[in-house]
Amino acid sequence: MSIAGQILQLRNSLPQEVSLLAISKYQPIEALQEAYDAGQRMFGENHIQEMAAKAAVLPKDIEWHFTGHVQTNKIKYMASFVSLIHAVDSFRLLREIDKHAAKHNRTIDCLLQIHIAQEETKYGLTVEECRQLLATEPWRELKHIRIAGLMAMGSNTDDMAQVRSEFRRMRQLFDELKVAYFADEPSFAQLSEGMTDDYLIAIEEGSTIVRIGSMIFGERQY
Ligand SMILES: *Cc1c(COP(=O)(O)O)cnc(C)c1O
Repeated sequence: MSIAGQILQLRNSLPQEVSLLAISKYQPIEALQEAYDAGQRMFGENHIQEMAAKAAVLPKDIEWHFTGHVQTNKIKYMASFVSLIHAVDSFRLLREIDKHAAKHNRTIDCLLQIHIAQEETKYGLTVEECRQLLATEPWRELKHIRIAGLMAMGSNTDDMAQVRSEFRRMRQLFDELKVAYFADEPSFAQLSEGMTDDYLIAIEEGSTIVRIGSMIFGERQY
């Protein structure tokens, strides 16, 4: 199916409260333009300079989400326009983003990335580290970032029961943190989880942003 066809079909099938983030990393400008022409406005990229280069030439009403690992020395290239940073996994990073956002007089929304999958990876906070960060670090003093929710990647496995239980734990953590720290903050509202292979399960388990790449654009052109 065409990119436009996939966008329209996905949009018609998603519940109203779930946002579709089109993951366009490694895709050429023309592919993003086709999705845009089909009405897509939220795009996610994994490399800051690639995102900045695309943002410079594509329409200005696109909402750019950064879904990759954040390198501190590159935050400056996205601080003026990024609308949501999905994979923040330390207080140090929150502080760096805050510093750059302040220079642009902006508040940047961030999600805390939780390491919930079985794979070994160096990215993401464990559930315990996340609780620890919120309990002990002075994040409320950072006036130019806003913690808008949580992000996770499910295990890369065919065992969908495993993936479901991971997403379920994410929802429980989200609800726990909401009550403990964000009860008065409606902006803490996003649970970013679910990709091409597991987005339907993610939605059933409470995802509010699904991040879909290959289903929309086909194979990535590395
Ligand atoms: C690439 C990527 C996706 C999209 O994956 P698909 O399987 O192509 O849908 C989603 N989230 C993150 C963080 C990614 O890096």
